[in-house]
Amino acid sequence: IVTEHFPVMEEIYGVIRLLEPEANRRGIKLEQQIADGDWYIMGYRSRIKQAFLNILKNAFEALVNRGSLVSITVFASIHQLVITVEDDGEGLSRDTLQNLFVPFFTTKQEGTGLGLSTTQRIINDHGGEIFADNSPRLGGARFEIRLPLTT
Ligand code: ADP
Ligand code: MG
Repeated sequence: IVTEHFPVMEEIYGVIRLLEPEANRRGIKLEQQIADGDWYIMGYRSRIKQAFLNILKNAFEALVNRGSLVSITVFASIHQLVITVEDDGEGLSRDTLQNLFVPFFTTKQEGTGLGLSTTQRIINDHGGEIFADNSPRLGGARFEIRLPLTT
């Protein structure tokens, strides 16, 4: 794998496209508020894709017992790309919020607990940050990723 300077929106749209069939099949609404810009980041394209996929997969998995909405927003602020993924699913308990990024922490019957620890490492390796909380708007979980943009 090599680092490259790549248009990050290609990977974001790529992941959304990958999940659309499942969203349609399950009746999940994928709300998108995506500003368009020709934004580039430096790093590993496939790892960034994996990070987005992990976050969105978790949102879909949180909608098994309740909820049917995943909301994705993307905008740029100065030299950072800000990506948020919110859902109206089960949300994050206090215990989950404290352990979310710990390797092997899972609340799922068949979970690996590796998605978010891997995602956090990928984002940090790209000079970015990831935050988790509950969504005041939707009542489920809310993840925010910030990635430095190159010019
Ligand atoms: P896994 O998905 O294999 O359980 P992850 O590292 O991806 O592992 O996630 C860890 C835990 O974080 C999950 O088991 C779940 O409890 C919680 N979690 C992650 N995303 C969400 C979400 N969108 N809504 C509710 N809980 C979540
Ligand atoms: Mg996961």
